[in-house]
Amino acid sequence: MHVCFSHLADRGEEYWHIHTMLSVYHCPDLHCHSHYSDGTLSPADLARQAHAQGVDLWALTDHDTLAGQAEARASTQALGLAWVSGVEVSAGFLGQTIHVVGLGVDVRHPGLQALLAANRASRGPRAQAMAAGLAAQGIPNAYTGALRHAQDPARLSRTHFARYLVEIGRCRSVAEVFRHYLVPGRPGYAPHQWASLSACVEQIRAAGGVAVLAHPARYKLPALQVQLLFDTFAEHGGQGIEVVTSAHTPTQVQQYAAVARERGWAVSCGSDFHSPDESRYLLGALAPLPGRLQPVWDLLRERIDQSGSPAAGT
Ligand code: AMP
Ligand code: MN
Ligand code: MN
Ligand code: MN
Repeated sequence: MHVCFSHLADRGEEYWHIHTMLSVYHCPDLHCHSHYSDGTLSPADLARQAHAQGVDLWALTDHDTLAGQAEARASTQALGLAWVSGVEVSAGFLGQTIHVVGLGVDVRHPGLQALLAANRASRGPRAQAMAAGLAAQGIPNAYTGALRHAQDPARLSRTHFARYLVEIGRCRSVAEVFRHYLVPGRPGYAPHQWASLSACVEQIRAAGGVAVLAHPARYKLPALQVQLLFDTFAEHGGQGIEVVTSAHTPTQVQQYAAVARERGWAVSCGSDFHSPDESRYLLGALAPLPGRLQPVWDLLRERIDQSGSPAAGT
């Protein structure tokens, strides 16, 4: 199945002129999750699906872990699919959780690895606090139940709790569990301290990567704090923003494209695919990027592994 739209659809001659010198990707997908975090598929399965669905540049971006990167890279090499390393880092900013996608990072960088390890180590105790909140609502054993889905306390996310509550019949869907139990103000939500936004961006940069602000429309911040978020992100080295993502409406795509133009940021796109049963968008099923924007893969040229891909040598 080929699900991609052309990302070049509404670009002008100038873009073509410049980009004949660069590798051109028609259907990048730079955000998704495997079973190393809260996805349900292996990196190898994701790579196969991405390739079958027309993706021509792919990154696996698990939450706070690089554990799936070697498998992702090996799978793409076997398929002849261009690949770049990736991670989605949980970051704290003004008491909120912000997600920063790091692309093209050196997966062996000690500083980034230490930051990710600290985030992962805090997931177990956080999950215990979430389970306590659920127990108080008459839902016992949620820690054990969620852990069966996650396999490892260091991977435990709200998504695993949601799957457990669906499994025991408490709700009909993962989305319903989030609404009733897992968002701020609900009983299974536990406020949490992730690594600071500034440290996350700095370590992505130190590891040679490009920091991309993930799904900006998802954050519930007042307008002034949004500007502060953008300022802080840029001050510490952030260079990109997700514009096309399954979390954005067409209006929000235009809104964040305007932010990218104003701030001089590169733009990224990704499905945020987690599971065939839960995700509304398949890998690669993305609308085109709006025009007059610099795609983030222009900043990643030396970091993209295109051994064997049709783009090799261009
Ligand atoms: P955590 O890292 O444990 O806070 O979990 C965050 C993950 O929960 C996100 O990456 C999404 O996969 C998932 N998530 C967050 N909000 C929702 C929602 N409203 N509906 C479904 N999944 C959600
Ligand atoms: Mn997730
Ligand atoms: Mn996210
Ligand atoms: Mn994600």
